[in-house]
Parts: sequence; structure tokens; C-alpha cells
Amino acid sequence: MSLLAVEDLDCRYGLLQAVRGVSLQVAEGETVALIGANGAGKTTLMRAIAGAHPPHAGRVKLDGTDITSLPAHTRVRRGIALVPEGRRLFAGLTVEENLRVAAASRTGGRWNVQAVLEVFPFLKPRLHMPAATLSGGEQQAVAIGRGLMTNPRLLLLDEASLGLAPVAVDAVYRSLADVIREGMTVLLVEQDLGRALKVADRVVCMLEGRVVLEGEARSLDRDRIVNAYFGLRRAAAGGTGA
Ligand code: ATP
Repeated sequence: MSLLAVEDLDCRYGLLQAVRGVSLQVAEGETVALIGANGAGKTTLMRAIAGAHPPHAGRVKLDGTDITSLPAHTRVRRGIALVPEGRRLFAGLTVEENLRVAAASRTGGRWNVQAVLEVFPFLKPRLHMPAATLSGGEQQAVAIGRGLMTNPRLLLLDEASLGLAPVAVDAVYRSLADVIREGMTVLLVEQDLGRALKVADRVVCMLEGRVVLEGEARSLDRDRIVNAYFGLRRAAAGGTGA
């Protein structure tokens, strides 16, 4: 059974339907990359899984249990951590305080401040500094660390590389690879296709609220992904697989 199952999910903002009948599954220990152009509905889907956006229709299941009606804080306790787009740290709190704020949400498990610093060693000298004084890459590391501090079963990572210098993206993804190697289940949104294909077992491509392509990262043809990404005709001819 999948750890996460999304079934026929619809999400709306008033009359605008941002997510249209999306179904996807993430198995325990799997890394799935959600890709798609701006406005495809990726963030809305992530927020709906985390309980931050109530869906109009459809279901979200964790380990087979329907959690669609559970509020976000209860989903954190069940093991879903969302690292939101834009990081959303407490700017005036130190790195350590930002990490510890999350620790109260879900206890038990391997993640604590020490473990986060082992994965993100470049945060060690920053531990007692306000988050606002950190570089973008360091802030992203704190945001991921804060997610890990809840000892999640499923880590939702929205646009970890957004606005970061390539060297910072490399550092964040190196650390993320360590987290994944340890067996973390990850659903991530990534604009950088190369990066997504490198880190993920499976790729799901959204276009205008729908899943238009889905497959193993290793076996998907890059041209087909690019076509699906931009909604070009050849992608449709190639089938959705979803
Ligand atoms: P991006 O890469 O730009 O973040 P995305 O794939 O994550 O794009 P969403 O942010 O989920 O896409 O947006 C999906 C659709 O919903 C878009 O048409 C967007 O304009 C719209 N939308 C997103 N947030 C809101 C909101 N708060 N109010 C109204 N419409 C919204």
C-alpha cells in the first residue's frame, strides 16, 4: 500500500479550478518529483496534501486512512511535513529556535537539532544567529530542517531551489540526498527538470491542474517530459500514463 494516496482531487480558488481530478501515489521510501510550468497547480496540490488548502472534491489518504478532513496540525502529528515555497521562517528567531519550534509538533524518531546539523553541517556556525541574517541556501536548509524536526513520514518540499544561487542549490540537494538515502519518503516540487530527474525515483508532470505525464525518472524520455511540461502536442500523443 502507498504511504500517500491522492484520489480525484479538485481544488478551487473561487471559480478558478487549480487542481483537476488529480490522483497520485507515493510509496514508502520513494522520492517523487512534481514538475510543471508556473500555475500548473503544484503548490495548491502540496498545500491540499498538507491540509492547508481544503479540496473541493476527492480524497487524501495516508497509509490507507482518509485524512481529507483533518486539519493541518493534525496531519503534522500523523507525519506529514510541508516545507513551503518561500521558506517562511521566523525571521527574528535564531536557527536553533526555528528548529525547536517544530519539534513540539511530533515527538519520537531520529530527528533533533543535532541530526539536522549533521545533515546540514553548514548551519552549525549559524545556530545562534537570527534566520533573517542567513543566505537563501542556509534559510532553505533551516526550512527543511524544521520539517525534519517534526519527524515526518512524508516530507513535502515545495520549490527548494527557488531563488537560490546554483552553488546553494547544490549544497541543499546534497544534504537532501542524504536524507533520502536514509529512507525518507519525499514529494517535491522542482522547476529544474534536470535536478528533478536526478533526485527522484518517479516524476509526475502537471499542466493546467491535471496530471499529464507520470513515470520512472530513469525511463522517461526527456523530450516527452518537456512536451508534457509545456503542453505541446507530442506529449498528448505519447499518452499520460496516469
Ligand atoms: P508556481 O510554480 O507558479 O508556484 P504552481 O504549479 O505551484 O505554480 P499554483 O501556485 O498551485 O501553481 O497555482 C495554480 C493556479 O491557481 C494558478 O492559476 C494560480 O494563479 C492560482 N492561484 C494560486 N494561488 C491562488 C490564490 N491564493 N488565489 C487565487 N488563485 C490562486
